[in-house]
Amino acid sequence: MEGIVALVIFLGLLGLYFLPSIVALNRGAKNPFPTIIINFFFGWTFVGWVVALAMGAGARTRDDFFAGTRPRTGDYIVCPQCSLENWTGYKECQKCGSSLW
Ligand SMILES: [Zn+2]
Repeated sequence: MEGIVALVIFLGLLGLYFLPSIVALNRGAKNPFPTIIINFFFGWTFVGWVVALAMGAGARTRDDFFAGTRPRTGDYIVCPQCSLENWTGYKECQKCGSSLW
């Protein structure tokens, strides 16, 4: 019985330790590896763990990239400010200069 309790506590702590990595993977982050590496090597320092969690929770996901606030029609991004269609290579609207990212 004591062994089982110890195992449950151990797994709980292990899950808590790797929470940032789990969050990053669950969110479908485009690149979860920096989060996992920082989590693994620096998670034991409280600061490293918080940094990893922030990275995992804030990482841009595939869904954000394709279905975010930027409507796309073919190879063009519609400017949210002036509705001008800009080529996807532009980072700023060619008419009003607002950020397309
Ligand atoms: Zn614009």
